[in-house]
Amino acid sequence: MEKKELLYEGKAKKVFTTKDQDVLIVSYKDDATAFNGLKKGTIVGKGAINNRMTNYIFKKLEEKGVPTHLIEELNDRETAVKKVEIVPLEVIVRNFSAGSFAKKMGMEEGVKFSRPTLEFSYKNDDLGDPFINQYYALALDLATEEEIEAITKYAFLVNEVMQEYFASLNIELIDFKIEFGRYHGKIILADEVSPDTCRLWDKDTHEKLDKDRFRRDLGNVEDAYQEVFKRLGIES
Ligand code: ADP
Ligand code: UDP
Repeated sequence: MEKKELLYEGKAKKVFTTKDQDVLIVSYKDDATAFNGLKKGTIVGKGAINNRMTNYIFKKLEEKGVPTHLIEELNDRETAVKKVEIVPLEVIVRNFSAGSFAKKMGMEEGVKFSRPTLEFSYKNDDLGDPFINQYYALALDLATEEEIEAITKYAFLVNEVMQEYFASLNIELIDFKIEFGRYHGKIILADEVSPDTCRLWDKDTHEKLDKDRFRRDLGNVEDAYQEVFKRLGIES
């Protein structure tokens, strides 16, 4: 599988076309951004970790009935994926209060909820990804009712599978963001699942093992990504 031309360069990945119009190659960068691109930096080794972690978890999710865009890992940083039409929603699932939720609700971080929450943001950098609900999504034709239903079902299933899996690594899955796409009329999981897009805390020490270390200048950013990768035990 070979890259043809650069289709899109995002904040964390480059996306290339291939000679197969149904297949893209994503290439993960070490670049890190936060606060809608206002804060910029580099996390050495992040691209390879996020690529390999995403693929490892996507395989587990496939086994549990979540269809994903994964085709084949090509090397440390690059993966062939099914080209989808991204549904312009950031789908966020939370098990504990943190981040924007804690701020909005005037809560401490780390309070466990009675049950997981689900929320949508409109994926639009110019607007800063505003919080919306499913009625906005339907009214603005961002997705159909059937698509929202599939996205909701898969999002909670992804949460169940990941929560249980991370627990086995002594990691608490606090919250995460995922994206879905349309592929030949069906909704499938796309984009990535990594310490860039999940909040992951050590279960005993509550140490943050995710991008909050970069966002909040907590130090040891690379070490945190390496620690998660080490616990995953992915063979090289
Ligand atoms: P951003 O666009 O937020 O800066 P990235 O740097 O991660 O994010 O860029 C990757 C882009 O590729 C994102 O816009 C994402 O929605 C999109 N994408 C992810 N998976 C697929 C796929 N299978 N097909 C098409 N686009 C995808
Ligand atoms: N998230 C993400 N991309 C975004 C916004 C959020 O991957 O553009 C993830 C974030 O890493 C966290 C979860 O979604 O795991 C919830 O983030 P929150 O809404 O609390 O926003 P934040 O505090 O990151 O601004």
